[in-house]
Amino acid sequence: MSVIDLRSDTVTCPTPEMKTAMMNAPVGDDVYGEDPTINFLEEKTAKLTGKEAGLFCSSGTQSNLLALLTHCGRGDEYIVGQTAHTYRYEAGGAAVLGSIQPQPLDFEPDGSLDLDKVARFIKPDDYHFARTRLLCLENTTGGKVLSMEYLKAAHALAASHDLGFHLDGARVFNAAVKLGMEVREVVRHFDTVSCCLSKGLGAPVGSVLCGPEAFIGQARRWRKMLGGGMRQAGILAAAGIYALDNHVDRLAEDHANALRLAEGLADIKEINVNPDRVQTNMLFAEIGKKIDALAGHLEAEGIIIDRAEHLRLVTHLDVDAEGIEKTIRGFRSFYGK
Ligand SMILES: *Cc1c(COP(=O)(O)O)cnc(C)c1O
Repeated sequence: MSVIDLRSDTVTCPTPEMKTAMMNAPVGDDVYGEDPTINFLEEKTAKLTGKEAGLFCSSGTQSNLLALLTHCGRGDEYIVGQTAHTYRYEAGGAAVLGSIQPQPLDFEPDGSLDLDKVARFIKPDDYHFARTRLLCLENTTGGKVLSMEYLKAAHALAASHDLGFHLDGARVFNAAVKLGMEVREVVRHFDTVSCCLSKGLGAPVGSVLCGPEAFIGQARRWRKMLGGGMRQAGILAAAGIYALDNHVDRLAEDHANALRLAEGLADIKEINVNPDRVQTNMLFAEIGKKIDALAGHLEAEGIIIDRAEHLRLVTHLDVDAEGIEKTIRGFRSFYGK
C-alpha cells in the first residue's frame, strides 16, 4: 500500500529517473569551484530567475540566512511577515548569527504586507533606531500568490527608501505556474531570491540563492563560514537540475489536486473549508476536536495528515488524482458518509 502523505510537499522521494541523473552526474570539489554539475545548476537557476549568479545551498533556511547576512550587517533591520519562514521558522538565525533585528508585521489575508504599514515601520536615520535595510517577502505564502501589481508597488517602496528586496521563493515555481508566467518575470522586482528544489519540485536536498554577482560572492563566503561548503555535491545538484527540467510544469497537477480535495471535503458539513481560497498546492480546513480520531482513522488507510485542528493539507509529486479520491473517501467514511 503506497502511503498518501499530505503533511508537506517536502516528503517527496526522488523518482527512479532522478536517481539515475544523480548517479550519472559528473562531480568535482565544489569548494574549489570544480563541480561541473553544481556550476551548471547555479547558472541554470540564475538564468531562470533572471539574476546574474546563483549559489547552491543545503536548505532554504541556509539560503535565506545567507541572503539576510549579505543584505544586512550588525545592528541592521529587516521588515518581514509575522508568520514568514524567514522570521518564525528559521530558529532566529538572523538575530543569533547576524545580530540583525527583525521587524515583523502581520500579513494581510492575501499574504501581502500592507505597504503603508511597512512605510511607517521603516526607521528614520536617527541613532535611536536600528538601520532598516531590507524588505523580505514570501511567494507563495500559505499557498497564496502575490500579485505582480503588488510586487511592483512593494519594490517601488523599497527602492525609494534604499532598502534591499529579498524574496523567500521556496515555492516561487508554484506561483509562476499559477500565474502562467516565467519565473524570471515573477521575481523581476527582487534583488535576490531563494528557490527551494526540495519542496514541490521533488529533489531530496537543496535551494539556490540568486542575485547580483558581487552579492553571491559575499554569500559564498558566509556559506563557507556556516559550514555549507560542500565537496562532490553535484550528485545532489543533479537532482535539482532534473527537477527543474521535469517537475515544474507538472505543479499544475498538484494545484488541481488541491482544489479537488478542497471541493471533496467541502461536501462534509463537519469540516470548514473554502475551495475558493485554494490557489496552489495547499488548502486549510477547520477540523476541530475530532482531529486525533480522524488522523488515526486515515492512518489506518495509509493517509497521513498533521494532528492540527486548523489543518494544512499539501499536494505534491507523490500524490496522484487517484490518491486524492481515496483521501476524500477516507474523510467521508470517518464522518459516516
Ligand atoms: C520550506 C520553506 C523554506 C526553507 O526550508 P528548508 O526546510 O530549510 O529547506 C523557506 N521558506 C518557506 C516559505 C518554506 O516553506
